[in-house]
Amino acid sequence: MLRTVSCSASLSSASPFFRFFRHFPRSSTAALRGPARNLRRISSPSAAGRRVLLRRGLRVSSAAAGRGVNGQFSRLSVRAVATQPAPSYPDVSQDEAEKLGFEKVSEEFISECKSKATLFKHKKTGCEVMSVSNEDENKVFGIVLRTPPKDSTGIPHILEHSVLCGSRKYPVKEPFVELLKGSLHTFLNAFTYPDRTCYPVASTNTKDFYNLVDVYLDAVFFPKCVEDVHTFQQEGWHYELNDPSEDISYKGVVFNEMKGVYSQPDNILGRIAQQAISPDNTYGVDSGGDPKDIPKLTFEAFQEFHRKYYHPSNARIWFYGDDDPVHRLRVLSEYLDMFEASPSRDSSKIETQKLFSEPIRIVEKYPAGRDGDLKKKNMVCVNWLLSEKPLDLQTQLALGFLDHLMLGTPASPLRKILLESGLGEALVSSGMSDELLQPQFSVGMKGVSQDNVQKVEELIMDTLKKLAEEGFDSDAVEASMNTIEFSLRENNTGSFPRGLSLMLQSIAKWIYDMDPFEPLKYTEPLKALKARIAEEGSKAVFSPLIEQFILNNSHRVTIEMQPDPEKASQEEAEEKSILEKVKAGMTEEDLAELARATEELRLKQETPDPPEALRCVPSLNLSDIPKEPTYVPTEVGDINGVKVLRHDLFTNDIVYAEVVFDMGSLKHELLPLVPLFCQSLMEMGTKDLSFVQLNQLIGRKTGGLSVYPLTSSVRGKAEPCSKFVVRGKSMAGRAEDLFNLMNCLLQEVQFTDQQRFKQFVSQSIARMENRLRGSGHGIAAARMDAMLNVAGWMSEQMGGLSYLEFLHILAKKVDEDWEGISSSLEEIRRSLLARNGCIVNMTADGKSLTNIEKSVEKFLNLLPETPSGGLVTLDGRLPLRNEAIVIPTQVNYVGKAGNIYSTGYELDGSAYVISKHISNTWLWDRVRVSGGAYGGFCDFDSHSGVFSFLSYRDPNLLKTLDIYDGTGDFLRGLDVDQETLTKAIIGTIGDVDSYQLPDAKGYSSLMRHLLGVTDEERQRKREEILTTSLKDFKEFAEAIDVVREKGVAVAVASAEDIDAANQARSNFFEVKKAL
Ligand SMILES: [Zn+2]
Repeated sequence: MLRTVSCSASLSSASPFFRFFRHFPRSSTAALRGPARNLRRISSPSAAGRRVLLRRGLRVSSAAAGRGVNGQFSRLSVRAVATQPAPSYPDVSQDEAEKLGFEKVSEEFISECKSKATLFKHKKTGCEVMSVSNEDENKVFGIVLRTPPKDSTGIPHILEHSVLCGSRKYPVKEPFVELLKGSLHTFLNAFTYPDRTCYPVASTNTKDFYNLVDVYLDAVFFPKCVEDVHTFQQEGWHYELNDPSEDISYKGVVFNEMKGVYSQPDNILGRIAQQAISPDNTYGVDSGGDPKDIPKLTFEAFQEFHRKYYHPSNARIWFYGDDDPVHRLRVLSEYLDMFEASPSRDSSKIETQKLFSEPIRIVEKYPAGRDGDLKKKNMVCVNWLLSEKPLDLQTQLALGFLDHLMLGTPASPLRKILLESGLGEALVSSGMSDELLQPQFSVGMKGVSQDNVQKVEELIMDTLKKLAEEGFDSDAVEASMNTIEFSLRENNTGSFPRGLSLMLQSIAKWIYDMDPFEPLKYTEPLKALKARIAEEGSKAVFSPLIEQFILNNSHRVTIEMQPDPEKASQEEAEEKSILEKVKAGMTEEDLAELARATEELRLKQETPDPPEALRCVPSLNLSDIPKEPTYVPTEVGDINGVKVLRHDLFTNDIVYAEVVFDMGSLKHELLPLVPLFCQSLMEMGTKDLSFVQLNQLIGRKTGGLSVYPLTSSVRGKAEPCSKFVVRGKSMAGRAEDLFNLMNCLLQEVQFTDQQRFKQFVSQSIARMENRLRGSGHGIAAARMDAMLNVAGWMSEQMGGLSYLEFLHILAKKVDEDWEGISSSLEEIRRSLLARNGCIVNMTADGKSLTNIEKSVEKFLNLLPETPSGGLVTLDGRLPLRNEAIVIPTQVNYVGKAGNIYSTGYELDGSAYVISKHISNTWLWDRVRVSGGAYGGFCDFDSHSGVFSFLSYRDPNLLKTLDIYDGTGDFLRGLDVDQETLTKAIIGTIGDVDSYQLPDAKGYSSLMRHLLGVTDEERQRKREEILTTSLKDFKEFAEAIDVVREKGVAVAVASAEDIDAANQARSNFFEVKKAL
């Protein structure tokens, strides 16, 4: 099924909550800092959420994927259908299954994913198991429970966090964290949807995989949290009182995570929309938890929820990969046999929302900044619940297709017309979504003035009517079809395991007691749809869909959101008054008791597990770890004097290509224009082709193209690596088209469309503002980097707070001096495009690599020899100072950083092990567990030497900085035994060896080439990692003290907290207003 999701990160109806704020360490991976460096280097849960959703999605947020169309898709491979006979995989006989307590329900070979899939039922409990066997070494296990909440106290979410805090067989504080530290997992997390909770793990190492499986099974069925109120308090909520004379406050990881969610207008809109569109069933409440309701949750209700729903009868289990299918059942039977059947499967059924007979309209407020301009800050979104009954596959597929046609690319009519109307800055929550019981469609805008709200609604309705009447351009239909087919064939799930992507597709039907196989088999319905379009024309296919599901559907909910500068402080005041009442109602003894309980909880949190207890969590030995890094086949050659890297890898007949230009001739003052230059290349059109035609051409001929700047420090060099990258992919037979289109974008696009440019600026402002609220840690990190090195400064100019400031000035300049801007864009082009200093990187099989050479040569010959203008010396930095950036928020992002190379520290592989250990122990325990922040971690950039500490959705500010400053002493006082050390080493190797699909392998190799990292050095670093000793930790302590002594602190925080910090520590921060 082709499903589409929102282009915004927060079509929250289905975006799950993650247990773990996944931070990808940049030092140990291949320094993949591509487009919008900040976006990639710190992947926020919402970005990860987007990835989850994207697996089914045809739409890609261009913000996340650089400037490009049709960036990354994640679907099954179509290819196998016609060409591959069904291979045979190890089988489970009916007999074997019976013996283990299972019956085989059905079995199919699914050609789309070259897998044999068998559905089993555990006879005693009714637990269903999908066992998928194939050649994929990246094995996946997942257990999914239907967990519909009845209120917004966040039970499913808090439980999802809590079950991984110790279990019967693994009675330590957080087995989950032990796995994070010391396993080779390629995926490890848990997420909460509006109606279900998923616990997935993945690994390529079989022993490791089954370790993970056992910990997860034990956690789900036998968690300690149902007996231990402390876990509930820590992950959910509790009153904190350090001293009876102080104020009481709320603490809790989920509580603060959700405060962060409720500080973001896009998220608030998504939640209101979901609740308003399905007011009568479980979707009418928030499974994540509303911070106002979370403190109403009792421990008893929490225990009861686990007892009721965390039962095999209510579970669906997924196995995928090249491991032994009999062993899977054996492992499961051990757990499942301990249970009797329960009625939970019936009691967890999701009720259908009856369709409304009339549309409704809802007006709500959201917290806005006090000083910003509030005139154009309304949001409006129109939502439809499409059907009461589940749709057949064919219809779903057609709706997914329709969605891509209407909204999938900047050239898609609904998207284009809305953005060009000038009525708002950017789209919100737009697209089809069918992850929940009933499919829905939403479209809306933000950055709208009060007067224009109604105009936006009218324009949406008029455009939909027009599309139903007139149909779509045949080139657009062809482009969408090619895009969809390409993504199916490529099946590129990025760093997300393919097996997990399939699981989430299957479960979206299976969870509602429908066929789990059906969502995996899209070839026939796609063929049929294609045939129908060819026979009857696209209008006959799509117009009735728009009419039936949207225009004539009275289940329509319009949501308008108005900015309210008082709301944030009002909410804060309300919380304070509730807490004051709580305190007033307590006797002196009560208060003393609460202070004692607070202290007891903290002590418990800060006391490490004894080593013998930790031993129960299974882990690998060093002997299980490959001694050599994974090498990517790389042949360095040249074409007409241009360096060409070739990676001969099996890519299913797809060619991946990057052309890299040097930014060394670009003037300082043009840097902040580069992101808009990139967007202009993709979205302005040439003399002969409108941008719509150009986009359709890209969609029809290729698998997508993108352009973006790339910057990084290079170890041992003063000059940064600063490049401009053009990236594209196509079928091998269309490589010539790919390079022709690259040339067309780079050389023929005209920078003449002032109105479009104006839209780009306002979209960028909206995106940056959203990032400030949602990924303030990324903004803080970029800011500190910009103070500490040139590469960081460049990056901040193109994607940090400086960039946002630039955009505000630019917004005025577009009207006053468009000529000037247009010629600056031309100047950027002349400074970048040149054969000299250019590098081409190609990933495909050997034959294709040879075949495409002619196209590459032609492309290179069309480039100018040298860039215009001489080399520019870049030496910009922001002044070193502590800064606090004010935004309307209920939770903060706190950072501190310094350059450890400035102390004379020389890079050693142990640094990766140590920084990971600091994140997983010291910062996890202090910033998250006892501090109550959703995330706390550190990041060591081995290229620049910058060591940064960051927190995410953090209720504290100065306290967090003090924890960072204590890191050196923590390391000096550390006493790690061999087992702990081994775990830390294995976990680090797991990061270094992260699983990569072929395109990622070729790209990483390019990055290493650009940053001067050789395979010899990788081998040396690996040996250093493997031999890390306690002595290395102590030595590192001396280096890291530089952050405490000379580091800079940057916080993105609320005005109240910044004032308090500046009072407590005489004007520690320079204050900057941002929103
Ligand atoms: Zn969470």
